[in-house]
Amino acid sequence: MKILVTGGAGFLGSHLCERLIDAGHDVVCLDNFFTGRKTNVGHLLGNPRFELVRHDVIDPFKIEVDQIYNLACPASPPHYQYNPIKTTKTSVMGAINCLGLAKRVKARVFQASTSEVYGDPEIHPQTEDYWGHVNPIGLRSCYDEGKRCAETLFFDYHRENGVDIRVIRIFNTYGPRMLANDGRVVSNFVVQALRGEDLTVYGEGTQTRSFCYVDDLVEGFIRFMNQTAVVGPMNLGNPGEFTMIELAELVIKKVGGASKITNKPLPADDPKQRRPDISLARQHLGWEPKIPLEEGIERTIAYFRKSL
Ligand code: NAD
Ligand code: UDP
Repeated sequence: MKILVTGGAGFLGSHLCERLIDAGHDVVCLDNFFTGRKTNVGHLLGNPRFELVRHDVIDPFKIEVDQIYNLACPASPPHYQYNPIKTTKTSVMGAINCLGLAKRVKARVFQASTSEVYGDPEIHPQTEDYWGHVNPIGLRSCYDEGKRCAETLFFDYHRENGVDIRVIRIFNTYGPRMLANDGRVVSNFVVQALRGEDLTVYGEGTQTRSFCYVDDLVEGFIRFMNQTAVVGPMNLGNPGEFTMIELAELVIKKVGGASKITNKPLPADDPKQRRPDISLARQHLGWEPKIPLEEGIERTIAYFRKSL
């Protein structure tokens, strides 16, 4: 197949491009390099089945493809809050442009949505039928509401125009090729520990997240995209749930060294708990994560040891 990956030079996108190339597909990677890097896909550049295009998803694009994975959007709070209006435009216009293209060329189109659509959730763990608890006017809203609107567009194009959609809700995913200055918690802690700095735990550190290793997630992407039973939304993530204190202690133990924990103010609207219910993914994809947090953290530490 010929497959378009928007945001393909980013953390998740570059792993996905690699998997698709390995499976024998032609891949067009489209990115504006806001948080992505050419080096993330540098090893694919010599492959005649791989093409890298600098483009912003806010502007329409025309290309004959069989499948589209729409991943373009900054994902870490510091990056998506850097230019919040642009973040909303990226989600909304990016969705419209991908859906318009999919409609024209009859491609299947996949949206990388997020657990942030659940906001600061009042039900736990989160199931796909939960409508969420999102502040529409806060600092995280540009991302959360942008992604929610993108989901709306996907389902309206599906109902109105018969576009073949797949919508996945990704829970916190980590691994090699995250940016050292990405700002998300796993990369922050690993980089801080490797530099011998103290680990910055925001608030009391009792808030929880569930961390999925990138290879597990990408396997779920591909299984979901290539089945026809369900269009989503479907949660993908690792149901293991940890406090930020537990994560910090694990990273310090694995890196060794003298780093301690230091507390910083909790950002506004920071969700208190998060854990995916992955029953749907188990049932329809036969999928569940295989890589436990300890092992994933070791692999991530090994990556940053080499790349810092
Ligand atoms: P990332 O920041 O590494 O990747 C995003 C990519 O999109 C980058 O390459 C960036 O340059 C590109 N991009 C941003 N705005 C663009 C635009 N306007 N036009 C073209 N390209 C643009 O983040 P990631 O973790 O790889 O996230 C990928 C996708 O998955 C995002 O849509 C994100 O919202 C979603 N997601 C990720 C997680 C996670 O834990 N990693 C969780 C939930 C959802
Ligand atoms: N966090 C932290 N220290 C950091 C970065 C993040 O304690 O250096 C916390 C943050 O407040 C949140 C959790 O870790 O409660 C996950 O943050 P991240 O930005 O990785 O993802 P998100 O909040 O979008 O789930």
